[in-house]
Amino acid sequence: MAQFEPVAGTDEPIKADTLVVGGGIAGMTTAIESAEVGKQVVLVEKLPSLGGRVAAMNQYFPKLCPPSCGMEINLKRMRINPFVRVLTLAEVVSVSGGPGDFEVKIKLSPRFVTEKCTACGECEKVCEIERDDDFNYGIGKTKAIYLPHQLAYPPRYVVDPQFAGDARMKKCVEACEYDAIDLNQKERTITVKTGAIVWATGWRPYDATKLDTLGFGQYPNVITNVMMERYASESGPTGGEIVRPSDGAEVKKVGFVQCAGSRDENHLPYCSAICCLASMKQATYVRERYPEAEIHLFYIDVRSPGRMEDFYIKVQKDEKFFFHRGKVAQILENPDNKNVILEAENTLTGQITQTEVDMAVLAIGMVPNTADTPPPLDTQLDEFGFIAPDTGKGVIGAGTTMQPSDVATTVQDATGAALKAINQGGGR
Ligand SMILES: Cc1cc2nc3c(=O)[nH]c(=O)nc-3n(C[C@H](O)[C@H](O)[C@H](O)COP(=O)(O)OP(=O)(O)OC[C@H]3O[C@@H](n4cnc5c(N)ncnc54)[C@H](O)[C@@H]3O)c2cc1C
Repeated sequence: MAQFEPVAGTDEPIKADTLVVGGGIAGMTTAIESAEVGKQVVLVEKLPSLGGRVAAMNQYFPKLCPPSCGMEINLKRMRINPFVRVLTLAEVVSVSGGPGDFEVKIKLSPRFVTEKCTACGECEKVCEIERDDDFNYGIGKTKAIYLPHQLAYPPRYVVDPQFAGDARMKKCVEACEYDAIDLNQKERTITVKTGAIVWATGWRPYDATKLDTLGFGQYPNVITNVMMERYASESGPTGGEIVRPSDGAEVKKVGFVQCAGSRDENHLPYCSAICCLASMKQATYVRERYPEAEIHLFYIDVRSPGRMEDFYIKVQKDEKFFFHRGKVAQILENPDNKNVILEAENTLTGQITQTEVDMAVLAIGMVPNTADTPPPLDTQLDEFGFIAPDTGKGVIGAGTTMQPSDVATTVQDATGAALKAINQGGGR
């Protein structure tokens, strides 16, 4: 069985072969691949659950299956492996030493719910306090005590720390017949001694409010691609109904705005590699639910690398799918019906067009979390904040901390990172 946080008061350093930072698909892969060859691994995740951004998808290409199809097998491999220790609500605060002999300090924030939790949900039913649902990108609310998501690992509730001291939480404590809620838990710091560190802290969506001509945050019917995944998901805030945020109406005409901030010197100068395919995938969510709905996708050029070209060819055959060559320069709102108007310039002919749709989806790009939270030791980053290829001196990067990529590429990269870490040796 995988292990979790050491019991409070046991201050002995934990010894590991590999420390993995970030519990998304990259970090989970590195951890499992290393542990399955008998290496001791500590996996550090700052959120209350593993899964990263993939856990928040509705479906993912190439197979268009829900995240459970890839995640569950990984979680099973992790659950049964005694060599993995999973630390959630955990963050690396300092690193000293070097390859073969690192000493790492890790801050553990309180969950306020112990391992006695069975995820029965009785505490949530009686909880009176609500908070913004960050897993759903702010669409909707959760209770102050909540299960992070359906596939949450560990499958344990968590209390939002801002409400741990709220007198109303007493009801939740009383409702828990397993005595699993401990609102007195405190932050603590533990030490891990390890031979190698793999950094897999992944990405976050580009801040769409910076795209000041595209109306995000100003017009309710302009959403982002990551929000679209949650609208389409059965476990999302609308139970899988793709509806207009302004009035909950079914969508009849949806616009996808490619390169929203990407390949743009003022925002993200690079291509995030997955946005074109993500939008085409999301268009199929709409088309499957609403056979009469139209899709209008505005692009500079469509990028569908490798075998994904087949998917691009397939959607092109759909007669309700309209590709518009043009960069959307501006989004306006029709005040009469809250529709949004996409103003675009055809990059070949220079013609300006206006297309009115019910809802617009901004295909925003991927920003590496290392851009503003780099590893706390000398690590070479490129100009955009991605970890530069391994120099053999510091951490080993894995997944989307290295470059924007899809899940398959991320998994390959993370498996390679496991091998590099094993070769580095040291630790125990
Ligand atoms: C709209 C959209 C749709 C997509 N659809 C698909 C698709 O259909 N198919 C596909 O193959 N790919 C898809 N992708 C790409 C996919 O999301 C990535 O390939 C995948 O998330 C990469 O996994 P990762 O582990 O590198 O990063 P993440 O998923 O970002 O995981 C990183 C983990 O590290 C944690 N973390 C962050 N900072 C710290 C820290 N300081 N300390 C500890 N932990 C930390 C995070 O909480 C997270 O759990 C899509 C991307 C977008 C934007």
